[in-house]
Amino acid sequence: MPNIIAVSKTFEEKDIIPLVEYGHDHFGENKVQEAFRKWPKIRALKKDFNLHLIGNLQSNKVKTAVSIFDYIHSLDSLKLAEKIAKEQNLQKKKLKLFIQVNIGNEPQKSGINESELSDLIIFCKDLNLDIIGLMCIPPNDQNPIKYFKKMNELNNKFNLTELSMGMSSDYLIATENKSTFLRIGTNIFGKRI
Ligand SMILES: *Cc1c(COP(=O)(O)O)cnc(C)c1O
Repeated sequence: MPNIIAVSKTFEEKDIIPLVEYGHDHFGENKVQEAFRKWPKIRALKKDFNLHLIGNLQSNKVKTAVSIFDYIHSLDSLKLAEKIAKEQNLQKKKLKLFIQVNIGNEPQKSGINESELSDLIIFCKDLNLDIIGLMCIPPNDQNPIKYFKKMNELNNKFNLTELSMGMSSDYLIATENKSTFLRIGTNIFGKRI
């Protein structure tokens, strides 16, 4: 069974806290500032859950991100890897990291291209970063199966164990294709306005 990250972006503490108190163990946000506004207050109530950054990370937000998140899913450049390593040393923390792959080679999407993935993984290992797996957001106008299969091939090739893929619309297909972390927003919290 994959882990389920409850993606609480745009929802407020009052909507999130019941699920935290119920004991759900993985939550996700896509913006560092929004997470920083909401989650320290929630952590003050209860500590035993994991917070995931699933959205883009700009280098000027790495410091805050390292301080509040347990996982980052959006590592996609050498520059970001260096910055995260530096901040982790300063804060004496070690987050679990996914490398985001631009699996559909879409110019507008973030994520590293497949051709540059190997270099980034080697670079991260040299920095002693804890890379646990790969993350993707497949093209939204196509059946995601072939992209999920490709992600499995890449994970095997690089000896990684975790796969962050699958959202409200495609979580069943992602589960059938060995996702280990589903990122579910709408199906848990309802429609975002
Ligand atoms: C918002 C978001 C999700 C969740 O999307 P839903 O369709 O609401 O389940 C998953 N992954 C990322 C990167 C997101 O930004």
